[in-house]
Amino acid sequence: MDKQKTIGFTTTIPVEIIFASGNTPCDLNNVFITDSNPMRYIERAEKDGFPKSMCNWVKGIYGVVMEEHVNTVIAVIEGDCSNTLALSEILRYKGIKVIPFAYPYDRDRKILKREIEKLTKALSADIEILAVVDEEIEGVRSNLALIDRMTWHDKVVTGQENHLWLVRASDMLGDYKKYNMMAEEFIKDAQKRKEIEGINIGYIGVPPILLDLYDFCESNGAHVVYNETQRQFALPHSSKNIVKRYLNYTYPYGIFYRIADIEGEIKRRNLKGLIHYVQAFCYRIMEDVILRDMLDIPVITVEGDLPKRLDTRTKLRIEAFIEMLGNR
Ligand code: SF4
Repeated sequence: MDKQKTIGFTTTIPVEIIFASGNTPCDLNNVFITDSNPMRYIERAEKDGFPKSMCNWVKGIYGVVMEEHVNTVIAVIEGDCSNTLALSEILRYKGIKVIPFAYPYDRDRKILKREIEKLTKALSADIEILAVVDEEIEGVRSNLALIDRMTWHDKVVTGQENHLWLVRASDMLGDYKKYNMMAEEFIKDAQKRKEIEGINIGYIGVPPILLDLYDFCESNGAHVVYNETQRQFALPHSSKNIVKRYLNYTYPYGIFYRIADIEGEIKRRNLKGLIHYVQAFCYRIMEDVILRDMLDIPVITVEGDLPKRLDTRTKLRIEAFIEMLGNR
């Protein structure tokens, strides 16, 4: 990681602004979970006093900042995680520069516009360069949308591949032009593949900390053709206006706005069932109550804690769920 120019962040933010400022965006979640030994980041957080009984994504983010010497972090203090405010205070205490960013819960356009302007100023991003980046990044997002379509429509992209391409849209691996070339290569290769068989299922909730969830589902007769949050990270309802683009993004604005999007995708993708992933010690677990009640297809709730493979009990539950869907 280039320590001088890397700007870490705790969840999806208007990444165009970081690119336009000449810095390199880095989604701390992605560094944590794609490391060959993500446990080392959790261990670092616990060594520094983080309790066992808290979300391991938060500990992972903290561990990455400390271990990789990231010196500037954009912390999304509203619209993502109830722990981020406290995390940002700890980071500040440790000498890290923290830039706060907030998505207004009520999707107030004026407030979001002000937040975007504040971030642009904080990073000294040039408005003209931002307009150029905005336009170029649209091309990357259309390729990501194509990969998504190739998952549920053409059925040549696996759920895990879909997850990875979309979840990494938050920072585009720090170089959107290179990410675009990689996506184009991937599309060309995937177009030559045979159709994947399996019952169409979807994944909703925060991205999984579990390492083999998609592979397990797909080796047991299901094809994950929808990744709710990851797809939102790639901003599927695009717009030429940056404020509108981030108002269309469902994830920060509460459960009911998300449900409207999920319901549309259930129909469009002909989903037979959903996995609702919840993270141990996350407040979002409570959303399960509403999701289960409002969505009219079968939902299985899967909880993860550490970046590990599925345990036997969860495997048995998922197997039984897929079998039940097959029998319907
Ligand atoms: S899983 Fe929940 S508690 Fe953990 S970082 Fe995400 S929103 Fe926060």
